Amino acid sequence: MFFRCKNCGGNTVYSPEHKKMFCPHCDGTDSGEREAGNGQWECANCGAALEVGEYASTCKCEYCGSYFIMDDRVDGKYRPHWILPFQMGKERVVGKMKQEWKRRIFTPDSFLSEATLEEMKGMYVPFWMYDYAARCVYVGTGTKVRVWVSGDTEYTETSYYHVERGMDIDFDRIPVDASLEMDDATMDLMEPFDYGQLGPFAEEYMSGFYGEVYNMGADELADRAVKRVSEDAGRLLMGTVSGYATLRQERKDVDIKGNGVHYALLPVWRYRYRYRDKDYDFYINGQTGKIVGTTPVSQKKVLAYGGTVFAVLWAALSLLLHIVEVV
Ligand SMILES: [Zn+2]
Ligand SMILES: [Zn+2]
Repeated sequence: MFFRCKNCGGNTVYSPEHKKMFCPHCDGTDSGEREAGNGQWECANCGAALEVGEYASTCKCEYCGSYFIMDDRVDGKYRPHWILPFQMGKERVVGKMKQEWKRRIFTPDSFLSEATLEEMKGMYVPFWMYDYAARCVYVGTGTKVRVWVSGDTEYTETSYYHVERGMDIDFDRIPVDASLEMDDATMDLMEPFDYGQLGPFAEEYMSGFYGEVYNMGADELADRAVKRVSEDAGRLLMGTVSGYATLRQERKDVDIKGNGVHYALLPVWRYRYRYRDKDYDFYINGQTGKIVGTTPVSQKKVLAYGGTVFAVLWAALSLLLHIVEVV
């Protein structure tokens, strides 16, 4: 499938700035007309052969830069239920990132001037979104202790409480990325997404971006969602049991039942920078602009802080070296 401009015949793409289809060749808006694919992987614009990745649902012609959507990869079992359209375009994201580097005290100045942009890709990442209902029960014995002094005697009074809690919690649309290429931890850090902008799937949103079909089925990935729901449910349950000096647990059950699953595409920008022979990847939530990535750490700037905060800085530093998360 290909979107062609009625005015000039060029390839129209979805523009996050205009929030509609846009022709970068003649600046026309809403001038894109859908052309069905011919089932062959060749560019409808220039005739060049298209290289389509194993899981790719869209591709870009290397010769003329047109974007195609593979019809059979957005259809049938691969048809997404929902899509969250990109809200942030290329320029805005680059600007935000530069700002972030400047703000960050650990980024060496030379990184700002020397790092070269190797790749920038707006990608719709496939996610499964799971719904669960959790039934939680807690039974235990809690104590509260009161101590007071009267005359020469210290009194201690221990009261015993039977503690019982029951909670039903609904978890809706717990996202788990279904792309092998994307690092799970990084994708988890892309959250939260505002689901208010999640809408029914339409191919138009994909024009101008890369996309993938799910690489793994919903059943294969359900464990990750279940683990998360169990932990969250347990935490919410125990949050209601507080104020006791001691607590002896007799029973704690978190029973989880699946309530449905949906296939959705969520927007992520990937920017790869090369700095002194090393690549640095940044992932940016295409909706909120949240950045996740690693930056080289400036030794000089860190040492300049010195003194008593040194130990604290190193603790923060080892974290930064690993991954930085910015809202
Ligand atoms: Zn045009
Ligand atoms: Zn082409």
